[in-house]
Amino acid sequence: MSGEVFACYSPIDGEFLTNIDACNEQDIHHAVLGARRSFESGVWSAMPLQERKNVLFKLADLIIEHEEELAVLETLDMGKPVSLCLESDIRGGAHAIRWFAECIDKLYDQMSPNHQGIGMITREPIGVVGAITPWNFPFYMAIWKVGSALAMGNSVVVKPSERASLTTIKLGELAHKAGVPEGVLQIVPGYGRVAGAALGRHSDVDCISFTGSHTTSRELMKYSSETNGKPVHIEAGGKTANIVFKDALNLEEAAQVSAQAIFYNMGEVCFAGSRLLLPDDEDFIETFLSKVKNYSEYWQPYNPLDMQSMAGALVDAAHLQRVENYVQGALDQGAQLFTGGKIKHPDSGGYYYEPTILTGVTPDMTIAQEEVFGPVLSVMTYQDEEDAIRIANGTDYGLASAIWTGDLNRAHRVSRAMKSGNVWVNCFHGGDMTMPFGGYKQSGNTRDKAFTGFEKYTQIKSTWIALG
Ligand code: ADP
Repeated sequence: MSGEVFACYSPIDGEFLTNIDACNEQDIHHAVLGARRSFESGVWSAMPLQERKNVLFKLADLIIEHEEELAVLETLDMGKPVSLCLESDIRGGAHAIRWFAECIDKLYDQMSPNHQGIGMITREPIGVVGAITPWNFPFYMAIWKVGSALAMGNSVVVKPSERASLTTIKLGELAHKAGVPEGVLQIVPGYGRVAGAALGRHSDVDCISFTGSHTTSRELMKYSSETNGKPVHIEAGGKTANIVFKDALNLEEAAQVSAQAIFYNMGEVCFAGSRLLLPDDEDFIETFLSKVKNYSEYWQPYNPLDMQSMAGALVDAAHLQRVENYVQGALDQGAQLFTGGKIKHPDSGGYYYEPTILTGVTPDMTIAQEEVFGPVLSVMTYQDEEDAIRIANGTDYGLASAIWTGDLNRAHRVSRAMKSGNVWVNCFHGGDMTMPFGGYKQSGNTRDKAFTGFEKYTQIKSTWIALG
């Protein structure tokens, strides 16, 4: 190892937590070599399927055994509420690992339909996977990538975000304990521009699986084009439109979920329902928004280590500043503050921001186009269904959209018109491991979860056997 480290501070109170190894180019090279060696040896890639499954089941068990430790680590490291961590990120992560493991011996290969020869269409692991993960769901996003890539027999090198690395490092330790052989899963913490770039540039990495910002996804594509042309699989954020129609079946529920859609995880969510689209009707808006505002109280941030806390701290000071700047920018461009808009607990040493609702947001404003990644809801109005569709599709993003309506025809019509990889009708973030997740347009080019999620981690081989 290079011996270099970087300091990790908690966003809860700004306290120093620990020093973390900062991998340099040489460290990344060693990790990739180790991953390559393990892959070619067949120790994992050729392991009998039942054994590979058992190791991943064991990993899921170990995650549950360490669930409290993992949840507290995640909370200390990136500020999200410990109760939500435990339930969604950690238990959800163990569930995801089990789901991936279950699939291992249920994915069949294919034979081509002909009589001239034997045409076999088989899937093989792609080889060495480079995974670069974000800080908002550090453990869970690492699990999506690691779980599906390992299930397919690959060796994986993971570069967690320097803003939240602790649970991914722990994941590496647990995987080793579960029986994932040496070299097969390597965690390489460090800075994006150093460790991430070295992984993206390495010619012995067979694909990159990335979740993060637009800007970085473009850098990674550049690295690939300058080196070995490896596929770069991207999930790069969203600007979800949450459209409420007057004919919604249950407006109370729609209001409650609209608040949750943006304030859950302090808005640090790629699919956060950051744009609320309401019909241009003053009475309707007043009634609906007063409900959303009431529900937003539930998401007031405070100490995320308290089991009752539903919202915690933003990830760091720079991010808090960024959220503040977006809100100020929106006000400067003509939006109005309906509620929130202030830093909370300034004396705590941590980074807390109130649930904030902006009204009078129009599609041309920066806040309606760019991802804030914070607890800030932009309320926009539409004239009719066609206008709602136009506004919803009017950004560079296309990760998700949500529709509230009691009209079955409208539900189908608008879902089809959405230029997004996920559409939720009369709910938000519906679905489970059986549903693919990913985006249209600049939100990405891949899908995670479900059988589709395995595709990027495999190669297809066509073998033709001539019949004599
Ligand atoms: P955010 O701005 O939300 O932190 P990033 O795209 O910067 O999103 O970060 C997502 C992941 O990409 C992190 O693991 C980060 O270290 C990594 N990263 C950032 N910049 C680069 C880069 N130039 N090359 C490779 N990885 C990078």
